[in-house]
Amino acid sequence: MAIDPETRTEILRGVDRLAREKVAPRAAEIDRTGEFPRDLYDQAGQLGLFGLWIPEEYGGCGPDLVTPLLVCERLSEESLTFALNVSNCGDATTPIVLGGSEAAKRDFLPGIATGALIPAFALSEPAGGSDVAAITTRAVCDGDDYLITGRKMWCTNGSVADVCTLFAKTDPNAGHRGISAFVVPKGTKGFEIGQDEELIGLRGSPTSELVFDEVRVPARYRLGAEGEGFKLAMSTLDEARLNCSALAIGGAVAALRHAVNYARERRQFGKPIIEHQGLAFLLAEVASEIAAARALFHAAIERLERGPSRDASTYAAMSKLIATNVAMKAATEAVQAMGANGLSRRYPVERIMRDVKAFQIFDGTNEIQKMVIGRNLAKGGLPFGDFHDGGPREGGR
Ligand SMILES: Cc1cc2nc3c(=O)[nH]c(=O)nc-3n(C[C@H](O)[C@H](O)[C@H](O)COP(=O)(O)OP(=O)(O)OC[C@H]3O[C@@H](n4cnc5c(N)ncnc54)[C@H](O)[C@@H]3O)c2cc1C
Repeated sequence: MAIDPETRTEILRGVDRLAREKVAPRAAEIDRTGEFPRDLYDQAGQLGLFGLWIPEEYGGCGPDLVTPLLVCERLSEESLTFALNVSNCGDATTPIVLGGSEAAKRDFLPGIATGALIPAFALSEPAGGSDVAAITTRAVCDGDDYLITGRKMWCTNGSVADVCTLFAKTDPNAGHRGISAFVVPKGTKGFEIGQDEELIGLRGSPTSELVFDEVRVPARYRLGAEGEGFKLAMSTLDEARLNCSALAIGGAVAALRHAVNYARERRQFGKPIIEHQGLAFLLAEVASEIAAARALFHAAIERLERGPSRDASTYAAMSKLIATNVAMKAATEAVQAMGANGLSRRYPVERIMRDVKAFQIFDGTNEIQKMVIGRNLAKGGLPFGDFHDGGPREGGR
């Protein structure tokens, strides 16, 4: 169910209040302690933010494509870590919404919608990162159950999660067609939380190892049919890439805002440094690239709102590629514009620089985005269609 514009405005007002009053004052502390901010997560739950990914009959008010993206863009201007804490719910929950049995939906979605249950998405493994078909976690059918054994890595919110959406091979000889998806609650015998990684950024977002040793999962917790796991993972990816774009754009805007404010105040050689053309050009370029990335992000949303298509996937990949590269550039140049202060923990831009790097890596690295775009160009030609240019041209093109 798409959310109507008035309700969306109301939700975003609440998000702005949460971001300004609760998240912003905590952003540096979350980075310093590296602790998952459970109290803020609960407040996001009280605002109904997790229900945006969940249908009404299971306690949500969605699923809606646009609102969560705008929510995450706004939260990320204050804390990229907290924005990821929230947005990860979408990646982890959508496979349950799309492929879950009635029992799985009833058992997990209402709790996820309120924030009482935190979900995680467990696909990556030591041997299977970009190459998803190389995962080795096995799910073996045993009567009405499956026995799951394997090791997952890099799972966002993994160590604080109550439930995980897990991908495992039911047929190890069938490549990606042998992958199936499951929902596995914490506390199931044999399901252990491993190490949290020490990353340079996003430090309040646990990135965890999850270990499965003959974990018994009932068949009603399989998502979709056997062998449909890869398709399910891919069908969440367009949205996940827009989510990542939203986070990146929020981070880029925040970095530029700090740099511009600083450059208008800081004086060298008798005038504010922003009046030195060399620095003004730097900031002008970043501002222009953020505006371009945002326009592409909205063009991608527009396409995905019409339903899944090759063009929508191409645009989602292009948006992720451009937005995350712009975020990295904006953060690095913001540090440059602020001189030594840019490197100091007294200012937020060094944290933004450390945080945004991961966006070029997860939800498919930027090289993988180029592979997706290139493959779609090979199959379908240019993806530009007839949007905003007066309709199709006579005689085609
Ligand atoms: C902060 C963070 C959070 C994450 N959260 C999750 C999560 O919640 N759930 C989850 O399942 N995973 C998660 N991941 C894992 C993430 O999806 C993987 O890191 C990512 O898919 C890349 O895999 P890899 O790290 O194994 O790199 P590799 O696949 O080993 O790639 C290494 C390098 O080789 C390049 N490369 C690989 N193949 C090709 C190719 N064919 N052509 C050109 N270049 C190539 C890559 O682009 C990259 O530069 C997270 C990662 C991070 C950093």
